[in-house]
Parts: sequence; C-alpha cells; structure tokens
Amino acid sequence: MSNLLDGAYAAFHQELAQRSNPSRAFDNFIDGRALPSTGTQRIDVINPARKTTFASVPDSTDADVDSAVRAAAAQLTGAWSTLSGAERGRLILRLADLIERDKELIGKMDSISIGRPFVETQILDLPNAIDTLRYFAGWADKVTGTTIPTGGYFGRPTHSYTRREPVGVVGAIVPWNTPFMITMWKLAPALAVGCTIVLKPAEETPLSALHLAALAREAGFPDGVINVVTGRGETAGAALVRHPMVAKITFTGGPEAGRAIGRSAADTFKRLSLELGGKSPQIVFPDADVDAAVRGLAMGIFFNQGEVCAAGSRILVHRSIVDQVSSAMAAAAGSVRLGDPLDPETQMGALASKAQFDRVAGYIDIARGENAELLAGGTVDDSHGFFVRPTLFRGSNDMRIAQEEIFGPVGIIIPFDDEEDALRIANDSTYGLAAVVWTSDVARSHRMAAGLRAGSVWINGWAAIDARLPWGGVKLSGAGRENGAAALDAYTETKTVTVVL
Ligand code: NAD
Repeated sequence: MSNLLDGAYAAFHQELAQRSNPSRAFDNFIDGRALPSTGTQRIDVINPARKTTFASVPDSTDADVDSAVRAAAAQLTGAWSTLSGAERGRLILRLADLIERDKELIGKMDSISIGRPFVETQILDLPNAIDTLRYFAGWADKVTGTTIPTGGYFGRPTHSYTRREPVGVVGAIVPWNTPFMITMWKLAPALAVGCTIVLKPAEETPLSALHLAALAREAGFPDGVINVVTGRGETAGAALVRHPMVAKITFTGGPEAGRAIGRSAADTFKRLSLELGGKSPQIVFPDADVDAAVRGLAMGIFFNQGEVCAAGSRILVHRSIVDQVSSAMAAAAGSVRLGDPLDPETQMGALASKAQFDRVAGYIDIARGENAELLAGGTVDDSHGFFVRPTLFRGSNDMRIAQEEIFGPVGIIIPFDDEEDALRIANDSTYGLAAVVWTSDVARSHRMAAGLRAGSVWINGWAAIDARLPWGGVKLSGAGRENGAAALDAYTETKTVTVVL
C-alpha cells in the first residue's frame, strides 16, 4: 500500500506543479489571472497526516486585497452587469460541469490539506457543491420584484414596484473543514443574483479555491467576477472586512473570528451573514431503532474527524438504554481505521493541523481532569501525523467538554430521564446549530423539533443537508441563513421605484 500511496502523492504533486510552477508556489487569482502578491511572505500548505509541506500560497497584503476588490467592483458596471439572469444561470451551470470534471483533483486538494479521507470529499463535498451550483443556477432568472398598489401621491395615481438588485462586491471568508462545499453555499446564490466575489479561503485549504477561480475563467465568467486572495484571517481576512467597497461579508468559522468580523463590519454597515460553531445534541429515545441510531451517532461525531460544525458531540441517551448505547458506541469507536487520506481503507484521517491537534488533545486532558468516564479512545499520536483516536466519554452537561466546541472526534454521552429532561439538557448550550432526534414515535419527533433551540433538527438521521434547505444557527451558532430560496435575499437589496402618473 505504501508504494501505491507514494505513487498517488507523486502524481498529485506533479499535477499541482503543472498548475503553478515546479516548486508548487501558487499566486492569487485576481481579475481573471494568476497574480503574484505585492508582498514576500508565504503560507505553506501542509499534509497533516504526513507532516509534509507540498505547496505554498501568498500571505496576501492589504494591497493584494484592494486589487481583488477593485477587480470585483469593476464588474458591477462591466460585462457581468449586462448579462441576463438566464445568461448568468448558464455560466453557473458550465462552472458546475467543470467542477464535476475535476472533482477528484479538487477532492485531493482539500483532503490532503486537512488530512481527511479523500473518499468523503467524493461522497459529500463535491456532489453537494455541484448540486448547490445547479440549484442556484435555476434561480438566476427568477429573482423578481413586486408591483405594489398605493393610495397615490397628492391626488395623482402612482405606479410602484420593487427591483431586486445585487448587493455588490461580496467578501466570502471560509473555514478549512469542508471548504469547497461551504464556498459554494456562498458563491452560488451570490453569482445567481449578479454579485461579484472576493474569496478568502482558510490558510489550510487555499488550493481548491484557486482552482475554482481558474475554472470560472474556463467557464467563461468575465474576468474579475470571482477573485481569490489567500492569506491569514487577521490580515487578509480583516482587510477584506474593512474594505469600503465590499458591500457584504459572508463568513463561516468560529465565534471568536465572527465577533471580530461583526465589530469591524459595523464601521461600514456591511451586510453580514455569520455561520459559526456548534455543540449539537443527538438525542436517543428507547423507542428508537437503536442499531440505526448507533450508526448515526457514530457518524455524527466521527465523520471528518469530528471537525464538523454540526457534529453531534453531545449524545443524550435515555437512562434505560444508556449502558447498551455506551457499549455499542465504544465498540464503534474502537473499530474505526485511522490512516492516510488517500488510502481507500481509511475511515478517519488526521486532524487538520498541529493547532487543531493540540486543541483536541487539550480537551481530552480537560475531560480527564473533570473525571468524565473514558469509554473509548483517549489516545493521541503526533509522531508522523496529527492523529487522535475516536474518543468517547460519559459525563454530565455541565462539563467543559459538553459546553465548549472541541471540533474533533470527541463525544460525551449524557443520560436523561424523560422528554422534558432531554429538551432541558439539549437547550442548555450557548450554541444552537443543529440537533438530531432518534425515535420511532412520530408525535414525539414533532414535539422535540418544536422544542429544540437549533437552526436545523434532523429526525432519525444526521446532517441531512441539501442546497434547497435553509442552513444556519441560533445563539452563538450565528446569524442568517444560507441555502434555500431565502439565501437569495442575503445577496440582494430591494429598491423601491415609484412613478407619479
Ligand atoms: P476560524 O474562525 O479560525 O477561521 C475561519 C476563516 O476566517 C478562515 O478563513 C480564517 O482565515 C478567517 N479569519 C479568522 N480570523 C479572522 C478575522 N479576524 N477577520 C477575517 N477573517 C478571519 O475557524 P476555523 O478554525 O477555520 O473553522 C472552525 C470553526 O468554523 C468552528 O467553530 C466551526 O464550528 C465553524 N464552522 C461553522 C460552519 C457552519 O456552517 N455553521 C461550518 C464549518 C465550520
């Protein structure tokens, strides 16, 4: 296997070199072309499963961000602005086709950059990203205003109507955990309504974003509609948020960065969408199909190494079955195969970075310090990559590992007594992104769905996301919704026109 893997990596590195240069040092993508940074600092792109550096990108300056914003702003009155909705829709469909053509390359770029199994990108991220583009392409010629009857103006009749116009330049800031999919949740509706974009990918996963910009050019988007500026959040990201010509920031990431962005965006009253973290409960009632629930619970906390905003990290189990579910979950955790992202046998990869590894290892220590009962895992290994075994504790909802987002493969099982108790514990969180209920009682499922304080509730399945369904959180999990028809509102301004007849 190791020879096969070495061969796969060699082919991948060669592919990257062809798309950049022999040292795999990429430039930004601004105004339809690869553009070197005005600065000299660079950021290494690392495979955290092997601790190897395999590419680099610019650590962009304020001047780089400014160039990208100006290129995007120019298209608001340029060729892009003259296209009809139907023409925009056709370009978005062409982009979706090109992404489908390159889905393996894009999947490798992202999975290798965060150590995650490549196969997961092919069953989730890429199909979802392509579907999202095609869904919003269909909206591009269907964003309409309304005609509104009024009482007239000083005795004269009027004709009043609204126009839905693009907000303008959108700054999109995305995290590293499922980067391509999340990017598309922002770009697809923004492009559908005629906005232009400056995308700032996460430090860890810039390559798929740069490739996306190149594909947009190949699809025929006018230069400057989609620009990519790589760099650090506190510098390039912050410069994008500050820029007076950016009308809207759409951000997915942690609450801390979300707060900093919210404060800075207030200076220029930017439109803002914030998709932040979570501490989502998965609730198992005794009437559930327990085998199916255990499979879902395990996926909910271990998929993508648990580095998922909607990870079902608090596992609430009815006291009558908590021992049964605990041992089944411990067995499930124990059977997970850790390995290289490109190895098809791998079920769980490495954590995305050393910082992420240290954070998760730190929380395992915190759990031990709080006397949570260790049911599975608890071991970490950074000798050749940043690996953490799937870990389960049993404890209570007031423990730090039940209250704070770990963003790793660490779950806590918490017993409850009845429906009311389950709701109380589930809602006792500063977060409110998602919740899962496992039950065969239809009436109970709806009672729980109504009582849970979360942006999405899934009954008998984890993470049933779809471009057609609104996505977002309450409380510290964010503000605003992505996806679904309502996402179009987040990228349009309503203009009122009145003609005095
Ligand atoms: P992060 O907040 O550190 O970074 C996210 C992005 O923001 C990166 O591109 C980063 O460079 C940029 N950034 C950081 N500070 C910034 C600043 N001051 N100004 C502008 N940009 C800044 O988060 P992360 O570690 O990349 O991702 C993990 C977090 O993202 C978790 O909290 C997770 O729950 C959340 N997340 C939420 C969703 C969702 O849909 N709600 C999806 C995925 C991840």
